[in-house]
Parts: sequence; structure tokens; C-alpha cells
Amino acid sequence: MTGRLEGYDAVAEANAQKSVLAIHWSRICERLKAEVGEVEYRTWLRQITVGPVEEDEITLYLPTRFLRDWVRGQYGDRLGTLWHAEVPAIRRVELQVARPAAQPAPEVQDATPAPQAATAPVEPAPPAAAPAVAESPRQAEVRSDLAAPLEPRFTFDTFVVGKPNEFAYACARRVAERPSSPGFNPLFLYGGVGLGKTHLMHAIGAELLRGGKVSVAYMSAEKFMYRFIGAIRSQSTLEFKDQLRSVDVLMIDDLQFLIGKDNTQDEFFHTFNALVDAGRQIVVSADKSPSDLSGLEDRLRTRLGCGMVADIHATTFELRISILEAKAAASGVVVPAKVLEFLAHKITSNVRELEGALNRLIAHANLFGRPVTLEATQDVLHDILKAHDRRVTIEEIQRKVAEHWNTRLTDMFSARRGRAVARPRQVAMYLAKQLTSRSYPEIGRKFGNRDHTTVMYGVTKVEQLMAQDPAFAEDVELLRRMLET
Ligand code: ADP
Ligand code: MG
Repeated sequence: MTGRLEGYDAVAEANAQKSVLAIHWSRICERLKAEVGEVEYRTWLRQITVGPVEEDEITLYLPTRFLRDWVRGQYGDRLGTLWHAEVPAIRRVELQVARPAAQPAPEVQDATPAPQAATAPVEPAPPAAAPAVAESPRQAEVRSDLAAPLEPRFTFDTFVVGKPNEFAYACARRVAERPSSPGFNPLFLYGGVGLGKTHLMHAIGAELLRGGKVSVAYMSAEKFMYRFIGAIRSQSTLEFKDQLRSVDVLMIDDLQFLIGKDNTQDEFFHTFNALVDAGRQIVVSADKSPSDLSGLEDRLRTRLGCGMVADIHATTFELRISILEAKAAASGVVVPAKVLEFLAHKITSNVRELEGALNRLIAHANLFGRPVTLEATQDVLHDILKAHDRRVTIEEIQRKVAEHWNTRLTDMFSARRGRAVARPRQVAMYLAKQLTSRSYPEIGRKFGNRDHTTVMYGVTKVEQLMAQDPAFAEDVELLRRMLET
């Protein structure tokens, strides 16, 4: 794709490149559609047009800066991976803003129906008859930026509730039902990356808009800053302030971004006060609690902590399983429980990664029409799983095995001999032999100072059982995969 043929007519080459790229792109689009779903695809990705390839980089165009930023944030990596898989010479994707000359503006508008509806109440009244094309680029941007569109997938219905997030969920629901109730304003949601903060905020927005009559503005703190700076540049800060202060509910995502941006913080502080004083609802998210957000002005931190502060904790195994079950069911692809367990054990960092892994499996199953198996999972997710792999220790093996058979960890070292404790212990020995470089005597010592012959016996026993009993073999195999480095 990138190699040039000497003496080859440049125009012909450019045309050839274009048509080849178009074929690749249509294949990538099919995949993306399968991965993200029709609605999301139409809302965001259909608007991409393919530009030229230079060296190892392909340029893709989007009609607005906002779309460009969104696509870059949400799909940038995935686009890179898909292009690279399609055309190995392409290693990077550059996203640029450009409205394709041939594309009429209505096409762009029509492609984002949900956002239009969602933001309508907070938009400055546009001259009704003026077609979008007649607007200056700045105006168009201000309008589409005032509030980011809400992701239709992020609703309360699709949010899976478990111990780590039930409090935040309840608070979000409460705010959606009765915004501006005392004690819940502002609502401050915090937690690590990919744990559902944005999802909950969009869910609040969607719920409020469903009820009608309220105007909701949602945007990232970063967007807030860009909008503010843009307003200063174009000397329209007053307009900006008026617009923001006219909403019923203002949601600012990832507030930590404002750390060190003093002017923007100041502006946010004033907006915040004006809205709260006028009885409007504020919802804010951040990666830390207000008191831990050092670098935010004290007065702002104090005010942020004045309403309801709800944290979302790291996921538990149970929650990860529930989320995977829900998402697998929604996809219509049958994913065996063993595969879900495997994923929930392996990918513990956050829901986004878990979801990404599952989506890839599902896309793969759809694409090739093959059932999802443990083997296929290992294959398809090879790169993701590798990134999550660590060196396994005997302690970890003992813990996982005990967990799997519901025995106490201490039974791994104890002198008890009943089969219910001896069998898991033998499996742990077998896995220790398989997955670590420890010798029989060393392993014996880790299992309550047992003799090396006991370990050898245990290992042989497990091998025999695996040969006789496929269900047992599968159990052990699953454990091995989960622990494998
Ligand atoms: P954050 O904003 O905290 O970084 P997001 O809200 O963007 O995280 O969540 C990342 C992804 O994980 C989203 O696709 C979201 O739908 C999904 N997700 C997170 N938590 C849950 C949950 N409890 N139930 C269902 N999906 C979830
Ligand atoms: Mg987020």
C-alpha cells in the first residue's frame, strides 16, 4: 500500500490506492458495525471518510472537531488495530477534521439524531430557517459542543449493579428521578478508569430527557475548557455563560482534567454557583474524591463535597461475571459460562477492557459463524490476555484452586486428608509443577512441608484422573489457563 512503483503514473497510483483502500475500509466498517452495533456505528463511524496513506499512516476524516475527538477517544485504538490487521503496512491512524466537499450538511446532521434531540433545549435559538451550511464554522462548533451527545447504550437498564457500584447507582437514579433534591446536589461520582462513571452520567441524562421538559448539558471537563477558551477567543464569553446557566442539569465528566487550568476552574466555579443557587442540578465525575483532588482550588473542592459523594469501587469477580452475562445475552451469541469465568478471572482491570474483550469474541463468532470456545477465546484474545499475564506463584495457584473448589486456603497446608481437601491440594500441586519451575521438594515445602513423594503422587493422580474424567480435565484445564503466564 505504501510502497511506490518507480515510473508509475502518480494519478493512476492515487486512484488505485483509493479504490483498494475503499475495499479495505468497507471490510473494516463491517467489522466495526458487528462490534459496536448498528446505532453506534451510524452515530459515529459512518461519517468517517478515508484519506490518503503516507508512509505507515492513514488519514481518516471526520466532519467536525467534536466528532473527530470523540471517535479518536472511543475508537482510535481500535481503528488502528483494524487497519493494521487489514493492511499490515499501516501502523497509525491520523484523524482529521474535514467536511468532504461532496457531502451536503444535512447528511451530517441526520447521522446524529439522538444528540440533536438531546441538546435541543440548551441550544441557543438558531435562526430557524438558516441551513446549517450557512453557518460559520465557529457557530456550528459552538452549537455542537454545548453538550456532547448521550451514548444511547448508556442507560440505567444496561448498567449492571453489584456491590462495588450499588451506592453510586442508587444516587444516580435518585438524581434522575428528582433532580436538585437537597443533599444530592451536586452529585459527585468518582472511581477508577472504566468503572462506569460516564455510563451513569449518560443514564441520568437519558432518563431526564425521557421525562421531557428539562434541559440537560453533558460534557467532559476538557470540552468545557475548550469551549470556554473558544468563547474567550471569539469574544462570546457572555453567550457561553448564558447558555450554560440556562440548563436545568449540568454534567461535567472527568473533572480532574481541570487541575492546573486555573482560569477554566474559575469559570466552572462561577457557573457551578450560579446553577446551584438557581436550584439547578450539577453532576460531576472525577477519578478521585473531592478531598483527594489536590490541585483543584479549595473553594471548588469544598463546594463539590457539599452534596452527595459516591464512589465506584473496583469490580469484584461476581460483578464481572454479571456484566459479562448481561452483555453476552444482549449480543445474542452463546458464550459458555466457562469462557465468561475465564474472562472475569483474567481481565480484572476495568469494565471497559472486559467489554472490549467480549465484544471482540462476539464479533469473531459472528464473522466466522463458529461457536465460542475456550480455545477460540485464547486465540482471539491472545494480545489482550498477554498484557494481563503475570508470573504465577504457588500461593496464587493455591488461592485460585481453593476458590474454585470452595475449600479453605489453609487446607492447602493442613494435614487433613479427606478427599474434599486432598483433591484440590493435589490439583494445586499438579499446577505448581506445570506452571512454575519449582522442584518436587520445593513444592512439598509450600504445601505444609510435605514430602516430595507426596507431591509426585499427587501430580500422577491428577494426570490419571484427567485422562479418565473429561469434566475434571476441563476444570483443571480452565484453572491452568486462568493462571498461566
Ligand atoms: P468511566 O467513565 O468510569 O471511565 P465508562 O462509564 O466509560 O467508565 O465505562 C466503560 C465501559 O464499561 C462502558 O462501555 C460502560 O458501558 C461499561 N460499564 C461500566 N460499568 C458497567 C456496569 N456496571 N454495567 C454495564 N456496563 C458497564
Ligand atoms: Mg468516563
